Amino acid sequence: MALGAFRGQFMVLPLLVLATTASAQSGPYQTKELAPGVYAVLREPPGRISDSNVLVIINDEDVVVVDANILPASASEVVAEIRRLTPKPVRYVVNTHWHSDHHYGNHVYQAAFPGVEFIQHVETRRLVVERDIPTLPKNVNTEYPAIIERYKKALATGKTSTGADVTPELRKSVEEMLPIYQQFVDQMGKSPVVPGTLLVRDSLVLVRGERTIVVKHLGRGNTPGDLVVHLPKERIVAAGDLDVAPIPFSFYSHLGDWPTTLRNLKALDVATIMPGHGPLQTDWTYVDQLIALIESTWTQVKAAVDAGADLEATRKRVNLEAFRDRFAGTDERRRSGFTSLFVTPAVESAFNELKTGTPFGK
Ligand SMILES: [Zn+2]
Repeated sequence: MALGAFRGQFMVLPLLVLATTASAQSGPYQTKELAPGVYAVLREPPGRISDSNVLVIINDEDVVVVDANILPASASEVVAEIRRLTPKPVRYVVNTHWHSDHHYGNHVYQAAFPGVEFIQHVETRRLVVERDIPTLPKNVNTEYPAIIERYKKALATGKTSTGADVTPELRKSVEEMLPIYQQFVDQMGKSPVVPGTLLVRDSLVLVRGERTIVVKHLGRGNTPGDLVVHLPKERIVAAGDLDVAPIPFSFYSHLGDWPTTLRNLKALDVATIMPGHGPLQTDWTYVDQLIALIESTWTQVKAAVDAGADLEATRKRVNLEAFRDRFAGTDERRRSGFTSLFVTPAVESAFNELKTGTPFGK
């Protein structure tokens, strides 16, 4: 019931993640100073919810922020944290890609820091405008309230909308998901989506006093417009969702290009990698595992497509069990997350891209 409710809707990425891993709140966060004036605001525990890590870069005169969270409440928490750290205003917010957990908080920055600019890749802005903005009101006003009603009814009657019994596990999952939907509807109903105001195709270098900040598109991967933010002197990179741990996300991703993009990431001389979600990384071990996983997925899907398989047959042929053990270990929730967050969307993305030239399909 839980996941079935989402099928066929486009803008469900964050809630899908929440539904799979279940937490009612954005969760506590932890702020770590990575270099003088450079802070990672990490959502804890990693991977529990779909809210992005944030990089805060305090310069001589202003502040640059990488990623803006999903809920206004969580973006406001980060703004409050920035105000504790410095009186300087946020001048630029970089949205690493178009998924809502990285830009729905933009309007909170717009209200707090007049004149702030939102830096996005041209493809990111296009997808925000074409896919996100038309879908959000529908989700907030119609789709999600209907799900909330269905869940409330199921809890009250002990029966799902299809007449099945609400098992104790299902009850627990529905009870966890209800406040998430409610929170999303309450907050996003009043929140405008703010698309990029300063667009990047290849790279943009911000020179802020002694600080050099390189905003770079290293190629397609998790999305067509992934940006990373590199501080060459401090040897830090914010990788966005090109790198997500412990379980990568692969919704409408470009699996054919992704390994090359990750190799471009590895070519940067850095000591600290801040993934889009998950704990800080200090070497490329995890990125190497990601490259192997994505290459194996792409190769297997391609072999199936070359042999004439349809999507269902392709799903049956692809075997990623060794990777499931490596990424998820024995944790049951993580093991099922490996299917719902990576395997299922990755096979579909790769299949669509091989058949139609785009992971969205035609
Ligand atoms: Zn994300």
